[in-house]
Amino acid sequence: MGSIYSFFNQKGGVGKTTSAINVAAVLAQSGCKVLLVDLDSQGNATSGVGIEKNENESTAYQLLVENSEVSDCVKETAVGNLFVVPSNAHLSGAEMHLINLEKREFILREKLKKISNDYDYIFLDCPPSLGLVSINALTASSYIIIPLQCEYYALEGLGQLLNTYQLVKTNLSASLELGGVILTMADIRTKLTQQVIEEVKNYFKEKVFSTVIPRSVKLSEAPSFGKPAVTYDPSSRGSQAYFALGKEFIERFGSVGASLKNESAAETTAPASIYSETNVAREQVSTEQAGQTPL
Ligand code: ATP
Ligand code: MG
Repeated sequence: MGSIYSFFNQKGGVGKTTSAINVAAVLAQSGCKVLLVDLDSQGNATSGVGIEKNENESTAYQLLVENSEVSDCVKETAVGNLFVVPSNAHLSGAEMHLINLEKREFILREKLKKISNDYDYIFLDCPPSLGLVSINALTASSYIIIPLQCEYYALEGLGQLLNTYQLVKTNLSASLELGGVILTMADIRTKLTQQVIEEVKNYFKEKVFSTVIPRSVKLSEAPSFGKPAVTYDPSSRGSQAYFALGKEFIERFGSVGASLKNESAAETTAPASIYSETNVAREQVSTEQAGQTPL
């Protein structure tokens, strides 16, 4: 089994990129070879590890839509062992092009398959949407990692997210597993945060990482210096939490041996319903969609 992880939540600003960058940097510092693939046209994971967004010739766009291979796109970062496939605003046009391509849900998987043995961990930083780029990320992944912001609306949209996960698992990629849930931006002094943490733990049980990421100015400041917080200010509370989370990753998933998951996984074209169902905006978490007990 491989070691490709989608940091995924269609909700914006929940800590996908911050978590992907910092856990990636911690794992890299601990000796794992890590590839971070920026799949968001905002390019936050790219600039967050100090790579200039506009100077890139081969980016995630060329990887998904054109003939570029991962090796054409990979850039070294200032953190040893950490490499990035950058992204920029071009990627916003990818959905439109992908729709016309053959095996459009598996393009990323096919490209990553060729290099997966070169890395211990491959992290995919997903955009805040449920479109084809995200579907490509999920079919390429062994695990989905869900960052959830500890706030009142944290659980809103979760039914839709889990529905997408189930649709991909059922129709496209049977071996996709829920790897873990990361609780982010917690203000543990507030009762509300405690309640959210409790609810999420009741629902996802042992899938929730025990490290809760606190709200921390250093975590939000670090990207403007083009550094992961864990290298920008390793002693800050936020960085300390990401060090602990990185340790949990190694305990949960191991430290070596990236390879793509089972090739025999279903390689069909998604039924049309996957797009209509995943793109319908739903305000509330539907327990029916999640197929679980109420949140
Ligand atoms: P998007 O959906 O737009 O890609 P995202 O889910 O990737 O967003 P981030 O970009 O990681 O979320 O975080 C959103 C904002 O919150 C950023 O400005 C980030 O610096 C800040 N942030 C993330 N985690 C924390 C934290 N623990 N404490 C304080 N600020 C944080
Ligand atoms: Mg992001």
